[in-house]
Amino acid sequence: MELIRVENLCKTYHLGEVDVPVLKGVSFSIHRGELVALMGASGSGKSTLMNVLGCLDRPTSGEYWLDGREVGQLAPNERAIVRTSKLGFVFQSFNLLGRTSAINNVAMPLDYSLSPPPVAKAIERASELLTRVGLGHRLDHLSSQMSGGQQQRVAIARSLINQPSLLLADEPTGNLDSHTSVEILNMFRELNATGITVLLVTHDPDVATFADRTIHIVDGLIDSDRRNSGASPHMAHFGDENHNGSSNGDGNGKANGNGHGNGNGRKHAIPAIAAAAATGARAESGQASTELLEAPSQVGIAAHSSSEVEAKTAGPFAPEKNVRVPKIRHLAASFFPPTLRTAVNALRRNKMRSALTTIGIIIGVAAVIAMVEISNGSKTALMQTMSTMGANNLLIQSGAAASGGVSWGLGSAKTLTPQDAIEIGNQCENVEAVAPIVQVRGQIVRGNKNWTPQSVCGTTPDYLIVRDWTNMDSGHMFSDQDVRGSVKTCVIGLTIAHELFEGENPLNQDIRVQNVALRVVGVLGRKGASMFG
Ligand code: ADP
Ligand code: MG
Repeated sequence: MELIRVENLCKTYHLGEVDVPVLKGVSFSIHRGELVALMGASGSGKSTLMNVLGCLDRPTSGEYWLDGREVGQLAPNERAIVRTSKLGFVFQSFNLLGRTSAINNVAMPLDYSLSPPPVAKAIERASELLTRVGLGHRLDHLSSQMSGGQQQRVAIARSLINQPSLLLADEPTGNLDSHTSVEILNMFRELNATGITVLLVTHDPDVATFADRTIHIVDGLIDSDRRNSGASPHMAHFGDENHNGSSNGDGNGKANGNGHGNGNGRKHAIPAIAAAAATGARAESGQASTELLEAPSQVGIAAHSSSEVEAKTAGPFAPEKNVRVPKIRHLAASFFPPTLRTAVNALRRNKMRSALTTIGIIIGVAAVIAMVEISNGSKTALMQTMSTMGANNLLIQSGAAASGGVSWGLGSAKTLTPQDAIEIGNQCENVEAVAPIVQVRGQIVRGNKNWTPQSVCGTTPDYLIVRDWTNMDSGHMFSDQDVRGSVKTCVIGLTIAHELFEGENPLNQDIRVQNVALRVVGVLGRKGASMFG
């Protein structure tokens, strides 16, 4: 039965203004249970095709049918569902999380599956798979502490965790030595024997001999598609080296099978190889048996009798005996939902980095808050200062007088009268207070001391409202009656009180301004410097 069918598949990358056609009309189909090698030179488009077949990428045109459904143009989320439910990936560079244990690497895809099993079940299933690929004794090892072959076995176990019907492997032996490559490739054969369809991408003709069928791709087009015939040279070599029985087993197996091109026949043929290999190996010396145990992929293939293998064709998830299931050590593992668990685990794995990042965020946020508050504070302080200077004050000055063509400047013409101030107050309803001012400039004298202030003005009590100067240090403001009666009183500022009285109480004492004696009735409160000092 057909599992994959692609028709006239094209993929063109767009690099700026340039179109790079990589797949130029690829058509083929793969049946369930086949083990197919996709071969081609580097740059011929193998990985691109693999990405499309693995629902990682969309074809530019053409059709891709997977398990009877057109999946080529699905939306990203739908493709993700197809990936998690039907596909397993094995990459050349393993793509494991380096600081994560083998078992967590394997169990991780379950977090993304549509119905994630309970944590205990996930861990159990991951342990089974790791045991099956010969890493039962390395469950808790970090993948960064494993050899290339071991890492690839972890990656294979991970690809199987969601029970895929199609296993895609892109140059899975590209980073491995030849002996380990043979182990890994045999593992793919074993998986294929259990009913999983395997598509193997390689540029190496020797690797392709492990498959039943080789599709050659050249410059984005299928060049040839043929069935492989004869015993695999790698298998023969592998058997000779370790088991002294593999070649016979291979021959028998293929003779017993129903022909090489037939998917069902393959399933029987491979176990026959395995059984023969196992018999040969067990008949050998103790040393050979030890090798057998140390080469996990051989254990996978060789350790089962043909009846056991028959049983396994139901799927690679039948419970294994002696599987060590690690205890769930972290409470977080059992209670948190998968995404939160992944996040917590990632934080826990990188403690220092997480701490530094957290500190960075705290400092960053604190700096922003501080900056905003400082600027708000400065703004408020500035507004207050402005308002003490009279932010809502309006100063009306009389015109300029001129004599003999010389102007004497603003205020020199005495055109404003106290009555004008009263009228402004009466007629302008938005005016809160009006104070007429006459200013003089000159010395203030008391006894043998004198001081020249910024301004000396004659005004009405409302002046304090206009200048927002309601706080008296001592005494009181002169009254409207004082003004009307031309009583010679004054209020002075703190600076004058300090300069002329030096700690004495200025109230009810006299000062002289331009030889006019004025009685001090009040001392103004502190206001700070104005714009003029
Ligand atoms: P292979 O796996 O057969 O070595 P690839 O499928 O990776 O080849 O790449 C085939 C061609 O497509 C190469 O020439 C490569 O430069 C080009 N290619 C691959 N991926 C991209 C991409 N994302 N953008 C542009 N060009 C790409
Ligand atoms: Mg590639």
